[in-house]
Amino acid sequence: MSIEEEWKAATKAIRLGHHRTEEGEHSPPIFTTSSYVYESAAQAAARFSGDEPGNIYSRFTNPTVRTFEERLAALEGGERCVATATGMAAILSTCLGLLQAGDHLLSSRSIFGSTVILFDKYLSLFGIETSYVPLSDLDAWEQAIRPETRMLFVETPSNPLTEMVDIRALADLAHAKGCLMVVDNCFCTPILQRPLELGADVVIHSATKYIDGQGRCMGGAVVGNEQLVGEEVFGVLRTAGPSMSPFNAWVFLHGLETLALRMKAHSHNADLLAQWLAQHPKVSRVHYPGLPSHPQAALAAKQMDLPGGMLAFKVSGGKEAAWKVIDSMQMISITANLGDVKSTVTHPATTTHGRLTPEQRADAGISDGLIRISAGLEDVADIQADIERGLGSL
Ligand SMILES: *Cc1c(COP(=O)(O)O)cnc(C)c1O
Repeated sequence: MSIEEEWKAATKAIRLGHHRTEEGEHSPPIFTTSSYVYESAAQAAARFSGDEPGNIYSRFTNPTVRTFEERLAALEGGERCVATATGMAAILSTCLGLLQAGDHLLSSRSIFGSTVILFDKYLSLFGIETSYVPLSDLDAWEQAIRPETRMLFVETPSNPLTEMVDIRALADLAHAKGCLMVVDNCFCTPILQRPLELGADVVIHSATKYIDGQGRCMGGAVVGNEQLVGEEVFGVLRTAGPSMSPFNAWVFLHGLETLALRMKAHSHNADLLAQWLAQHPKVSRVHYPGLPSHPQAALAAKQMDLPGGMLAFKVSGGKEAAWKVIDSMQMISITANLGDVKSTVTHPATTTHGRLTPEQRADAGISDGLIRISAGLEDVADIQADIERGLGSL
């Protein structure tokens, strides 16, 4: 075994993937070049045919992007990673690479809003039908699988209610039925949860969130084995071009260097806030995987290393009360972004879930009094004081 393979995650995130150039640079450079020069026509031909490995064109081969891909692949425990322009581009590339007309896609109900629109409005144009099941109900998954079902798609924990599914059990079901299992691991990152180790086939990321960690760049990634990701998803990227820019890859690969530290700190702050909110007289319910009151607390402890940085809580008084709480906060940013060093707050019913019908929202458990917090890395006393400022307005 090479020493690299023995390294722990935090070390891999800092040391892997940078192949130092003859300049001897210590920090990975940004290669802003669209193409590469060959020594001869024969070498160009060998590169294009794949007989000789190496750079060809930055839509699909760029050293800075590759550094990011190698690091993230190692952290997720996957053979290959393909970086994409956004998280949505990662989901689209995965579907284009692994599905075809006539296939059925089975997804958990509570997934990112744009993912629902991608599945319902766009994949349907190409003859791929999607249906939805409640995330944690394994019987419902089993009953909804059809002969033509090709892929199961989940986000766990879900946004904003932090519901979960047993990844290993669902992956076993998927494989027994000849399906692939895809996990959008954006909320956890490989520091908190590694779905490939639990049997999933493909992991998707929006690097825009925790991997960047400071709300600067858009990006995404797909991780899995050589065949599914290295061949199929990479083929889509090479041909259709939803690629990550070298600059963004450079930002993200530095984001990975501090990811382990940051995820622990985000999780620590969220945990303290959730415990405090659970005792708060103006809060009727707190959703956080680290609370003993969470209906799947045991599963969270089993499949996540830490409960994470996202929590939601409910106030009585519906939308009016929730908006009042949010508007009375003075520090926490009102923005849909998450995974940032800055704490953020959203009102799911009128933003991320605003395009659902009231029935769909009720069905998904998104009540009008629900408020979602992405716990940042400010001093937790200041975050708590600002939430208290909001709740004090009621
Ligand atoms: C943000 C997000 C996406 C989409 O990522 P973008 O980088 O915004 O395109 C997908 N899934 C989840 C869970 C997200 O939070």
